[in-house]
Amino acid sequence: MTSSSQAQPGQTPVPSAEAQALHRALFTLDSHIDIPWPDRGDAFEDTETRRVDLPKMQKGGMSAGCFVAYIAQAMVNAEGHAQAQAQCLAMLDVINTMQGTHNGVTARVCSTVAEITAAYEAGVLAVIPAVENGYAMGDNPAVLAQFRAKGARYVTLTHNGHNALADAAVHRPSLGDKPENHGGLSALGREAVREMNRLGLLIDVSHASKKTMLQAVAASAVPVVASHSCVRTLCDHPRNLDDEQLDALKESGGVIQITAMPAFLKPKDENGARSAGVSAFVDHIDYVVRRIGAEHVGISSDFDGGGALADWQNATQGVNLTAELLRRGYDKSEIAAFWGGNFMRLLAKAEGVAAEQTGTIG
Ligand SMILES: [Zn+2]
Repeated sequence: MTSSSQAQPGQTPVPSAEAQALHRALFTLDSHIDIPWPDRGDAFEDTETRRVDLPKMQKGGMSAGCFVAYIAQAMVNAEGHAQAQAQCLAMLDVINTMQGTHNGVTARVCSTVAEITAAYEAGVLAVIPAVENGYAMGDNPAVLAQFRAKGARYVTLTHNGHNALADAAVHRPSLGDKPENHGGLSALGREAVREMNRLGLLIDVSHASKKTMLQAVAASAVPVVASHSCVRTLCDHPRNLDDEQLDALKESGGVIQITAMPAFLKPKDENGARSAGVSAFVDHIDYVVRRIGAEHVGISSDFDGGGALADWQNATQGVNLTAELLRRGYDKSEIAAFWGGNFMRLLAKAEGVAAEQTGTIG
């Protein structure tokens, strides 16, 4: 089937029957999805306003998604920390309501590889909680166990702006940030990394400064993930990973999950405009594959957190990405690795290290 090759420029090609069949046959995991906040109780409704709700995931052949409790960076002080912690726990509680059967869709909150696999085998959507911004633990690593108890599987060390754990790629002078506050990870950040290893929480280096990222790779007993980041050589954004960072990921066994944020995928053209689609997205996958190998790259949307492409606008359209990967010549095992296999390998590794350190999965 080559209907896709007959599309006019600017049109979204219709995915081939081969691509549609492959997409349906794959385990497909999106490693970074935001939730509306305050909660609207509409995760089981096919909404106008959410790019990802559970009906759209089902319709689009998505198997699993990491839904994040995202905490915006604010002042690094006791009051800010208390607010961030309370909001994070409340958001994780909401993510934990995304299970059961409603409107013909069944979902399960899953926090281990075994649970995710069982949900997939049962034909049930897997909802995997996560936390975006270590600010949510304030200055108390003991809070990480509360996140894990609510099912969280990764914590993004920073958002935009430095926190008590680490420096971010983008600093916020309005919050009192210097270009660097810690020179990478703080002592507290190193303690948090050790605690995350013990609990089976992956360390997410998206948003982290280069020094923070490289230090986290060295400090963590488990390979780190960049849950939603792109390649700096292709698009010079401070949030993206440069070649030295990609090489460090390879060395340690980590994974970069390319994300559907146009500003991270393509520079603006000469008219100051920018449009990116799955083709630009797969350019970043190609680059990572060529530099460090197919086992180190995966897929995230950042839907409902700013991500969206011309031809991947919501969770119903992931098949367009599968079609583009097929067009580039990737085989089924590579596409399966991108769509979740590589990320699941890291989750399993984190569970193994946690079990060694605590005698349980945590
Ligand atoms: Zn983010």
